[in-house]
Amino acid sequence: LSEPIRDSHVAVLAFFPVGAHAGPLLAVTRRLAAAAPSTIFSFFNTARSNASLFSDIDHPENIRVHDVADGVPEGTMPTGSPLEMVELFLEAAPRNFRREMAAAETEVGKKVTSMLTDAFFWFAADMAAEMKATWVAFWAGGANSLCAHLYTDLIRETIGVKVDVRMEETLGFIPGMENYRVKDIPEEVVFEDLDSVFPKALYQMSLALPRASAVFISSFEDLEPTLTHNLRSKLKRFLNIAPLTLFSSTSTLVRDPHGCLAWMGKRSPASVAYISFGTVMEPPPAELVAIAQGLESSKVPFVWSLKEKNMVHLPKGFLDRTREQGIVVPWAPQVELLKHEATGVNVTHCGWNSVLESVSAGVPMIGRPILADNRLNGKAVEVVWKVGMMMDNGVFTKEGFEKCLHQVLVHDDGKTMKANAKKLKEKLQEDISRKGSSFENFKVLLHIITN
Ligand code: UDP
Repeated sequence: LSEPIRDSHVAVLAFFPVGAHAGPLLAVTRRLAAAAPSTIFSFFNTARSNASLFSDIDHPENIRVHDVADGVPEGTMPTGSPLEMVELFLEAAPRNFRREMAAAETEVGKKVTSMLTDAFFWFAADMAAEMKATWVAFWAGGANSLCAHLYTDLIRETIGVKVDVRMEETLGFIPGMENYRVKDIPEEVVFEDLDSVFPKALYQMSLALPRASAVFISSFEDLEPTLTHNLRSKLKRFLNIAPLTLFSSTSTLVRDPHGCLAWMGKRSPASVAYISFGTVMEPPPAELVAIAQGLESSKVPFVWSLKEKNMVHLPKGFLDRTREQGIVVPWAPQVELLKHEATGVNVTHCGWNSVLESVSAGVPMIGRPILADNRLNGKAVEVVWKVGMMMDNGVFTKEGFEKCLHQVLVHDDGKTMKANAKKLKEKLQEDISRKGSSFENFKVLLHIITN
C-alpha cells in the first residue's frame, strides 16, 4: 500500500448523540490521524456531543473539531424523545454539514478529498460524488443489523410488511441470517411506513451504501464469518475493524467518578452483576423495580449504571438496604468493569458496543433487548455464540431475573456460556494481533481514506 497523499483532507461526519455512534467514529479517526499525521481530519458533530467527547482528552493536532447544529428549529421546544431528536437532526443534516464543510475547507485551505461518515448519512453518497471525494461509511452496529438493512427490499418482498403471522419465521433466505427471526429485525425494516423520516432515511441508506468505497463496522471477522462473506458480495468493500470502544478506552482517561473500580476490587472473582442499558433508553419503571427486587432477594453483588432521572423508580429503601451489596451510579467505566475479574455477568440491552465489550472480556450476558438492533444482537448472544440468555418474554420480573442470575453465575449452563465467551475473546486477540485481519483491514481503510 502506498504512502498517504500529503494533501488529503478528510471530513468526518458523526451522528447525533443518540446511541453510541460518535464515540467509536472518533476512536477510529484518532487511529487514522495518528497513522497519517500529514492528513487533516475535520470532525463534525453536534456541540453537545463534542463537548462530552473532547471534555477530558487531548486530540492530535491534525484532528480539527467543528460543531454542527442539532436541527432543532430556533424557538421550538422539542419533547426530547430520541426519535424526535434523530428526525430533526437528519432533516437538517445535509444542509448543515454542507455549510460547515465549506467553512472547514476555507479554514484548512484544502478541498475535502474523503468523507468518513456515519452510515445513517445516506446523502453522503451524492455529496461525495459532487465533491469528487471518496465516501467511506461506518455502520455503528454489527454485521447482522447491517445485513437486515441491506436486504430490506428482499425481506419485504419475501415476508411482506406488517405481517404479524410470520413473526416466528427465520431469515433463512439470506446467507448468515438463518438463526434470526422476522421479529428480531429492527422495526424500520418491516414494520414501519417507509414514508416517515427515520425508516425512510434507513431505507435510503440501504440503497446508498453499495455506492460507498468501503463500509466498515466495529467487530472482528471470526465473530460472524458467513455474514462477513455475504456483506462482501453486497458492498464494494466491507471491513471489520477491531472493536473500537476497546481502543478508545486505552487512549483516553478512564472516567470513574463514582469509584466503581475501587468497589470491585473488594469482590470475589466472577461474582458481580454489572447492569446497564446503554445511552438511549432503559426498561420501564416496573422492570427497574423487578431488577431491584431480584438483586435484593438473590443477594448478588452489583454495579448498576442507571440514568439519574430513573433513580426515582427504585423501591423505597432499596439503596439503604443494599449499601453493602452494590452501588447504583449514573455512569460507569463499562469497558474496564467488564474486564475486571470480579465481574460475573453483564446484564444488558444488547447494544452492539456492549455485546462486543462483553465478548471481548469473556463475560456472559443476561439480555433484555430494547430497540433497534438489540433483538438481533440478543439472538446472536443466545443462539449463535451461546454466550448468554435473554429474559423470558423479553421482560424483567423478579423471579425471572433471579432465575437468570442463578443460571449464569452458578449453574453449569453459565460455565458453558463463559467458556464460549472465552473462546471468542481468544479469537478476537488473534484477530487484532499484527497478523490478524483487523490489522490488515485497518491498513486498507487508511489507504482508501488517504488516497
Ligand atoms: N457505557 C459506559 N458506561 C455506562 C453506560 C454505557 O461506558 O455507564 C458505554 C458502553 O461501554 C458502550 C456504550 O456506552 O460502549 C453503549 O453502547 P451500546 O452500543 O451498547 O448501546 P447504545 O447506547 O448505542 O444503545
